[in-house]
Amino acid sequence: MTTSNRAQPRAPQVIGSIVELRRLLAEARQQASARTALGGPAGPAGLAGSAGRAGSADGDGSDVGRTDGASDAPRVVLVPTMGALHAGHLSLVARAQELGAIVVVSIFVNPLQFGAGEDLDSYPRTLDADVAALATLGVAFVFAPTVQEMYPHGPSATRITAGDAGALYEGAARPGHFDGMLTVVAKLFNIVGCDVAVFGQKDAQQVFLIGRMVADLNLPVAIEIAPTVRETTGLALSSRNQYLTEAEKLGAGALSAGLRAAAASAAGASEGPSAGAQAAVAAAHGIIDAQPLVKLEYLVVVHPQTFLPVDDDFRGTARMLVAAYVGTTRLIDNAPLDLNSRPARVS
Ligand code: AMP
Repeated sequence: MTTSNRAQPRAPQVIGSIVELRRLLAEARQQASARTALGGPAGPAGLAGSAGRAGSADGDGSDVGRTDGASDAPRVVLVPTMGALHAGHLSLVARAQELGAIVVVSIFVNPLQFGAGEDLDSYPRTLDADVAALATLGVAFVFAPTVQEMYPHGPSATRITAGDAGALYEGAARPGHFDGMLTVVAKLFNIVGCDVAVFGQKDAQQVFLIGRMVADLNLPVAIEIAPTVRETTGLALSSRNQYLTEAEKLGAGALSAGLRAAAASAAGASEGPSAGAQAAVAAAHGIIDAQPLVKLEYLVVVHPQTFLPVDDDFRGTARMLVAAYVGTTRLIDNAPLDLNSRPARVS
């Protein structure tokens, strides 16, 4: 029996300091450039960098930002998270590794995006397990700053405002949430100096607003949207799922089942014009309202470019958004809704 002498991926460096992170990334960029010049792999952990263009998971044209003109330059790819990592987060990391040579995963529970009475204090913080999971993927850099490091002067006086689309749905339920989220994302982009950032389609309104921010403010970051990872039951993975009891978890399956029923309603008219958004909403209601553990907050079909509710005669690929309490846990989900005559798929 031979023993493998292949190098094991090194444990990630967990960095709390902005200055230190910038120093290490500058070094990593230099090393990766030197390796590329010598014809070797560009990645600091031996990961081959892809010079491919970042884009959107659903191909709905919502990718924004620049592509890297200097295709030989090592790309820094950021995956912002709040930790309590699950397979959904890890899929974003795997996508990041395909897109660039230097991957940074940030772990920061951002107080700015939590409202009074929300779960800021009880939000799961599992840094050691998160770092161990990222080590198995060969991630080199984990940026895990303290609140003091991110907001040394107290809560940011200067903030990004999410605008009208940020006041709807999640924004209506959680006032100030999107301003706080966009502010920390902009800070992370500036701190890391990333070329690409990867976000999950799971948080559809979030990623829509980030795309708008990047376009509105000409931020030099390409946004990549990765599909939603689900349990076999269809339940979208979420760090908050760990708050659910087994019975609630089963009940929560009604959300994705409702989305599938809506997609089937739209696709049911495959031989003719789609039955429309209202019929899709009714189909989803039929499933969700029948589940006593689910208290629906909103169920809406939105336009992919404006995120405003669509009229019933809208034709094209819209997105259905759902939010509900299951017990005391608030969950969100979404799926594309093909209101043409072709069947849609849940992603
Ligand atoms: P969070 O830690 O909840 O802030 O999420 C960090 C990133 O992971 C965001 O871009 C989320 O959209 C993404 N994400 C969360 N859950 C999933 C999932 N089930 N599938 C894919 N991406 C996800």
